[in-house]
Amino acid sequence: MGIETYAGRVALVTGASSGIGAAITQALLRHGLTVVGLARRVDRVKALALKDAPGKLHAIQGDVADEKSVLAAFKWIKENLSGVDILINNAGVITEGDLTSGKTEDWKRILDVNVLGLSICTREAVQDMLSRGVDDGFVIHISSVVGHVPPVSSFAAMYTASKHAVKTLLEGLRKDLVAKKSKIRVGEVSPGIVRTEFLVNMTSITPTVYDTVPCLESEDVAEAVVYMLSQHPRVQVHEVIVHPTGSTL
Ligand code: NDP
Repeated sequence: MGIETYAGRVALVTGASSGIGAAITQALLRHGLTVVGLARRVDRVKALALKDAPGKLHAIQGDVADEKSVLAAFKWIKENLSGVDILINNAGVITEGDLTSGKTEDWKRILDVNVLGLSICTREAVQDMLSRGVDDGFVIHISSVVGHVPPVSSFAAMYTASKHAVKTLLEGLRKDLVAKKSKIRVGEVSPGIVRTEFLVNMTSITPTVYDTVPCLESEDVAEAVVYMLSQHPRVQVHEVIVHPTGSTL
């Protein structure tokens, strides 16, 4: 038992072009999985291929906020790789603006990617697993510590709400699978601040933020995903919260 049981199986990682998604993609390749990395910047996904890793990488250009694009990606996977055995819902965005002055288009983007995109990918992956009789499938959401507490400030309230939604959607999915008597497992990893490109375009945050507070590296989050996938089939690790040591958030 362990993640080795998934060697050769197909994992779809959304938002694979950067940060946490890129690290998860490479970790799964090292463990011998066939990884489909989906993102809009597909060239960056292609660059993640590892010569010495046993796994195989397929890069797909896709936008999780565009349902047609998601459906096309699942069709390609079905036709070329049989289907999705593991889904890592990692793609996510954050925008500036509080709840009394923020822009509707920014809120829509957050909800389209973090909530609806995640839900569409989940539905398609689970339907695909069920249709092929895959009972050891896995769906892992990358959430955030902010999904477990009230907003820590006024500026990211819609993002915080989206991650609270992810937590609720996860438990809803677990109940749904139990009702269907499926053994497909689900879980979420909720990191604190991770040193990625996530906050770089936010003018209200200093570009040196990562040098001023304790941070995780993307590989730390990938480790948590590997931990979840490594458990015995009777064990469903529902939630892993990963704080940077010393974080005050
Ligand atoms: P990055 O900005 O480095 O990466 C975000 C990824 O999401 C990119 O690969 C981007 O790809 C992808 N993405 C964004 N929009 C879309 C879209 N519409 N369709 C497909 N892919 C999309 O951020 P992180 O790696 O830090 O973030 C990954 C996840 O981790 C997010 O869900 C985030 O909420 C969560 N998280 C991050 C924390 C942090 O401090 N960094 C803390 C807690 C949680 P592309 O632009 O090429 O499409």
